[in-house]
Amino acid sequence: MAGQGKLTDIMRSLNQANEVGRMIRESGFQLEKSDLKRILAELTGAISEAKMELGILQGHLFDKDAELKAMGELLHTKANLRRRGDAYYKARDNQTYGQPYCSYCWEGESKLFHLHNRILKKDVRICPHCKNEYQAARTPFLEADGLLIQ
Ligand SMILES: [Zn+2]
Repeated sequence: MAGQGKLTDIMRSLNQANEVGRMIRESGFQLEKSDLKRILAELTGAISEAKMELGILQGHLFDKDAELKAMGELLHTKANLRRRGDAYYKARDNQTYGQPYCSYCWEGESKLFHLHNRILKKDVRICPHCKNEYQAARTPFLEADGLLIQ
């Protein structure tokens, strides 16, 4: 089906344009004005269709680029995260540091949310997204002593 930015549709339109050129050549460049009008209309139609399909294809490529970029970022994040206690932390040289991330959200949805201290409860942390609670002792803030963080 046309209108989906498929290469086969683009090729079909370009072949149609090529066919118009062949018809003009085969006529020995001697065409009635009415035939010439009709053939030029076909040519214009074929080129317009190819342009439209190329525009759609470019949109698809844009989307794929964005998808690849997001996947690359996710892979990079995954490579630099380590579980420690009940949370995930950024890691450098296998050493975890910084603030804890919710393990439920990371393992379930690959999303990172910092745990917050529960108001008036110093020993409980909470995820602002899934509202799971964690013991503060098992999700400490880790100093980055000795690490070269960029
Ligand atoms: Zn969560």
